Amino acid sequence: MKTEIEQIHEENIDQSVIDRAGEIIQNGGLVAFPTETVYGLGGDALNEASSGKIYAAKGRPSDNPLIVHIAEIDSLARIAAKIPEKAVALAERFWPGPLTMIFEKAECVPDATTGGLGTVAVRMPSNKIARALIRASGGYVAAPSANLSGRPSPTQAKYVIQDLDGRVDMILDGGASEIGLESTIIDLSGENPVILRPGSITEEMLKEVVEDVGMDPGILGEESNEAPKAPGMKYRHYAPLGNLAVVEGRQDQVAAYINGRLKECREQGKKCGVIAADETAAGYLADSVKRVGKREDECAIAKHLFQVLREFDDEGIQVIYAESFDSKGVGLAVMNRLLKAAGHQVITV
Ligand code: AMP
Ligand code: MG
Repeated sequence: MKTEIEQIHEENIDQSVIDRAGEIIQNGGLVAFPTETVYGLGGDALNEASSGKIYAAKGRPSDNPLIVHIAEIDSLARIAAKIPEKAVALAERFWPGPLTMIFEKAECVPDATTGGLGTVAVRMPSNKIARALIRASGGYVAAPSANLSGRPSPTQAKYVIQDLDGRVDMILDGGASEIGLESTIIDLSGENPVILRPGSITEEMLKEVVEDVGMDPGILGEESNEAPKAPGMKYRHYAPLGNLAVVEGRQDQVAAYINGRLKECREQGKKCGVIAADETAAGYLADSVKRVGKREDECAIAKHLFQVLREFDDEGIQVIYAESFDSKGVGLAVMNRLLKAAGHQVITV
């Protein structure tokens, strides 16, 4: 398949490109597009065959459901069988934005879109390109992250092209993602709301709107045998090509440990990299040292994490050590993704 690649600017959107992209989706094709979280791979959420194509293009297991993206709050009623009061309050506060809510699904949502579940995940993105595309596509766009299954989510079109060129009809290049991590997922289909995946909308922010928010216990732990509530959380995720380990402990000891291992790597002729906070990055001797942001600036670290994992791959880095970051606020989402990317290899010094 020949993939058409189009540049598009959020502040000056070329409607003719959007119309063409919308037509592709309405005809059952796939278009990758920017959102404020990461790039999404979009197909018609109400067309079973389109969802099937999304799984095939990503190499994604078909029991891992897709998030349905809408552009207007009024679109929700058609796909959600029940809309609890709490969801209305959360939508008023956080939509459009990086919050995905899970509802009991309506009949019209195909099982292929929800991975066979009786619930549907819904988000209204704030990115204007995404919203224009959703409107031009009939209002319901199923879109997982636009990477091959298992790889870091793409925060720039060039990474979408690396993974999906030749596998999708069109890629819209709208520049770098603002947030850089996927949405927070909150399940509203049960008695009490439960956070299934942390993101840039934190537990504290959600609790300002609804008090009784719970947290899925597996968020920082290794996958248990129990079926996780968000099926996608059980798969190996976000992995760079090199072997990544997270090192935690007192900062001076972390630096000493990592530098010791880097020396060994160099002696073995392996290319090595480090992920570090701005404050400590200068202390490492590696082929590639990536600073992700100031230690207390969790949003900057979130924005750069997937990007640096992709950069290591571009540079052929074989062994990667990452500092550990504080898991408060958005830091919980950072550590959730970093630990998954490392396959939970954590070294405590
Ligand atoms: P991605 O769009 O690639 O970030 O993946 C979507 C995430 O949403 C995966 O972790 C899914 O398991 C999760 N998800 C989607 N729909 C549901 C649902 N109905 N119930 C629980 N989790 C869901
Ligand atoms: Mg994903």
